[in-house]
Amino acid sequence: MTTALLEVEALKAFYGTTQSLENVSFKIASGGITTLLGANGAGKTTTLRAICNIVRTEGVIRFDGRDIRGMLTEDIARLRIAHVPEGRGTFTALTVEENLRIAAYTRKDKAVVKGDLERVFEYFPRLKERMQQQAGTLSGGEQQMLAIARALMLRPRLMLLDEPSFGLAPLIVVEIFRILQRINDEESVSILLVEQNAALALNVATQAYVLESGRVVMSGPSSVVKEDENIRRSYLGY
Ligand code: ATP
Repeated sequence: MTTALLEVEALKAFYGTTQSLENVSFKIASGGITTLLGANGAGKTTTLRAICNIVRTEGVIRFDGRDIRGMLTEDIARLRIAHVPEGRGTFTALTVEENLRIAAYTRKDKAVVKGDLERVFEYFPRLKERMQQQAGTLSGGEQQMLAIARALMLRPRLMLLDEPSFGLAPLIVVEIFRILQRINDEESVSILLVEQNAALALNVATQAYVLESGRVVMSGPSSVVKEDENIRRSYLGY
């Protein structure tokens, strides 16, 4: 039995006085890929924001056995939980290299940062070719790669990915998901993947949780969730 790296129990989240998550519980195994699925507005993005303490929460968020709920967002990043938000969060006026160096700002060891840049470029050779290019001039797929590369510069133990396939051409999506699987494999980075593209997410994830109106309505191994009649009809479109 693998141990859980992240455990979320009875999580509630609020935007001001509006409650967005009612009761969300799930676990991510150390080294695993877990996906959160659900329709628009189900609470997927909010769950990632809750883990990073960007929204007000109640409940338990345990990382590596320690309750991190309510910790400062920057301290959560220092625990090596890297958030790749929807919209990607890159600095469009800065170059690719500047974006990557800023991502490692919490670390002062320059030689190590240089080594990390090389490591990240092994996954994303296209970014190396475009190192001095302004991030805002990259294609959508390259910007998504940059967002993931920035997260990698944190040397994450856990990556929170918000719809990495959003708005991208199918071939680029396949390329990005292959890289994510390599990162999971070779760097032992655990991944929490939020996706609208359920078929894609269920192919890479080992565990899946389905959210509806701020609650988990189904969970299990991806292979089982994939075969569920309701899930197929509601999210997979066949
Ligand atoms: P989507 O795929 O559309 O992003 P989602 O599953 O990620 O869907 P969330 O964005 O987490 O859903 O939204 C969950 C609920 O919280 C929705 O009812 C949404 O209207 C509400 N919500 C999201 N962001 C805010 C905000 N900044 N202020 C108020 N309510 C919000």
